[in-house]
Amino acid sequence: MKKILIRLDKVSKAFGKNNVIKDFSLDVYEGEFLTLLGPSGCGKTTVLRLISGLETVTKGKVYIDSVDVTDIDATKREVNTIFQNLALFPKMTVVENISFGLKMKKIPPNEINKRVKSIIKLVKLEGLENRYPNELSGGQQQRVAIARGIIMNPKVLLLDESLCSLDLKLKKSMQVELKKIQKKLGITFIYVTHAQDEALSMSDRIVVINNGKIEQIDSPENIYQHPNSVFVADFIGEANIIDAKVLDNKDSLKLSYFNDQVICINTIEEFNIGETIKLVIRPENVIVSKEDKKGILGKITGITYEGDSTKLSIELNNEIMIDARIVDKDTFDEDDIVYIRFSKNFIVPLRNRYEK
Ligand code: ATP
Repeated sequence: MKKILIRLDKVSKAFGKNNVIKDFSLDVYEGEFLTLLGPSGCGKTTVLRLISGLETVTKGKVYIDSVDVTDIDATKREVNTIFQNLALFPKMTVVENISFGLKMKKIPPNEINKRVKSIIKLVKLEGLENRYPNELSGGQQQRVAIARGIIMNPKVLLLDESLCSLDLKLKKSMQVELKKIQKKLGITFIYVTHAQDEALSMSDRIVVINNGKIEQIDSPENIYQHPNSVFVADFIGEANIIDAKVLDNKDSLKLSYFNDQVICINTIEEFNIGETIKLVIRPENVIVSKEDKKGILGKITGITYEGDSTKLSIELNNEIMIDARIVDKDTFDEDDIVYIRFSKNFIVPLRNRYEK
């Protein structure tokens, strides 16, 4: 059984009359890489601050390692935070920055030296030990902040949008390294981001937050392939979201959409006959053809080349726009008449909880 390291039990947080976190319950397991993901202002940082003790809850309880820390001061919680701005000490060298916390704890100097050396190797900062923060690149500063966070051996490391200021290439390589470091040390990471690609590539589980509430907690694969709401489908990656009506629900789910189209799909969720629902179809699961006339007629109104794939914007006869993603960009031109079909196994039916 996985051990629960952090538990938020029906936590709410209000700033004045503004209720920003609402009835939020979450278990974080030991050794996992958990990401809090959601749009700006949804409350991610506030959740992180409630765990670290930098904010106090309005209602509910916070547990760390089964101990109720709701009323315990931030300095006494065994968590460490890496802030968005890194907050390195500008007048201290790399080694001084990394060893600062251990010195404060009065750890013997030879023990400090040993631990600093091994952490510097782990985060690949060898040769830069005596540089000051302003003599380091963004990625190197990032590593110092990570080293400073993990050297204290916290039970949990909280990372607030830690990679957001790096350029795309550096960000990608830091994502891989961060994940490697986390696995090697087995420290629980709680990572905050609004970037879905970051969440999908690094996390063991993702918590999607919308307006202070949890929408879905799941593995990256399930969040992407089986979103449980239109909000999640729309926020994570690109999605075509279309209206449909349930015609039958016996063996499989028989649906009508676009007035005259009928499709049968398999789903474990139960829907009622006559219910109007939403269908989520990722652009890569839209099949586009000029020859196969069995599909739905449409016209290509836009082609966007995106390196490893190309996005087609297709206007159907009913004026609905559908996005498709294809690999071979030379097959299609703007104004081409095409026929589209949806890969049946990748259509996700959803209760009509939210409008897009
Ligand atoms: P971002 O991705 O933009 O950093 P976030 O999801 O981390 O956003 P929070 O910083 O947690 O969001 O803020 C959630 C809401 O709480 C926002 O509406 C914000 O204005 C409000 N808020 C946060 N801190 C305070 C505070 N100290 N006083 C008043 N309101 C606050």
